Amino acid sequence: MADYYSVLGVKSDATPEEIKRAYRKLARELHPDVNDGADAADRFKDVTSAYEVLSDPQKREMFDLGMDPLSPNSGGGFNSAAGFGFGDIVDAFFGGGQRGPRPRRRRGQDALIRLQVSLEEAAFGTTRDIAVDTAIVCDSCEGDGTSQGASIVNCTMCNGRGEIQSVQKSFIGQVMTSRQCPQCQGFGTLNPHPCAECAGDGRVRTRTDLTVNIPAGVEGGTRIQMTGRSEVGPGGGPAGDLYIEIIEIQHPIFQRRGDQLHATLTIPMTAAALGAAMELETLDGTSTVNIKPGTQSGSTVTLKGLGMPRLRSAGRGDLTVHVEVVTPTGLDDAQEKLIRELAMLRDEQEPAAEFNAHNQGLFGKLKDAFNSR
Ligand SMILES: [Zn+2]
Ligand SMILES: [Zn+2]
Repeated sequence: MADYYSVLGVKSDATPEEIKRAYRKLARELHPDVNDGADAADRFKDVTSAYEVLSDPQKREMFDLGMDPLSPNSGGGFNSAAGFGFGDIVDAFFGGGQRGPRPRRRRGQDALIRLQVSLEEAAFGTTRDIAVDTAIVCDSCEGDGTSQGASIVNCTMCNGRGEIQSVQKSFIGQVMTSRQCPQCQGFGTLNPHPCAECAGDGRVRTRTDLTVNIPAGVEGGTRIQMTGRSEVGPGGGPAGDLYIEIIEIQHPIFQRRGDQLHATLTIPMTAAALGAAMELETLDGTSTVNIKPGTQSGSTVTLKGLGMPRLRSAGRGDLTVHVEVVTPTGLDDAQEKLIRELAMLRDEQEPAAEFNAHNQGLFGKLKDAFNSR
């Protein structure tokens, strides 16, 4: 009697899953369709026998007690001709999968709709009316797909199983294969008089209007789930969920980082030097930004609570104003004179003159260095 455990290369305490995995692996290697080695066919037979015993809890127990369940003399009430479901081989080979008829009534698909919202809408929330293409339960048949007075009947070809099994003889004995029943397409039932309205699907296509509530604080990528607002399923099955994904339209003034907003405020050099109260349009209307005397370009002013609301908690972020100081250009004579006077009063050398002198010196040195080579 063979040691079925070592034939499959598993330990004697292997789980049914490990046994199945081991068998599947060996069967793939040794199957005569892929392996024409001299002893492959014999080994395939041995492996199949081992799996036959170890995959069956009762036969495995017998084997563990020192008996060979495949021996014709083992008795024990096992009908060795029919005892081994060949479907198990097929299962192990093809990864099993759902057995039995597939239901006529199924859940509808989820759907995703992308919706563009402005920063203002995202900040304060809004409602949107949208039209969606969807499927609703057929009025005529109320979802079961049959015409008035008719009903769903059992499939006679597969006896309600949804699949047809056929037995083929091969060198290892009989191999049973199953395929979808061609008469009922796997449902196990037939709809001999389908509803004319929906052709038996139990639902009809339609375009419907929906109001979407967009809560304050949403941002790009936020998904709003509308439970049961997608299409209904075949056979009047429950509706799937509709998801609204937010696409945030870029704002011309504000950049958003979570609940924080950023904006750039350009101010004249004189305002930066002397200080000023500047007006800035925010999401909440016009605000005043206090520019302190001596403000540098690149400095920031924080306006507390003028950022974005938080989606799942109270409060709002801040608005950070980035100050950009604009150097005056196109000076007329009087203005130029004033600035020169200012430069003199502050003992600041004329920058242009200094810059040129510096550069000419540098250029001269480079030229000398080049000529001396
Ligand atoms: Zn119908
Ligand atoms: Zn059928």
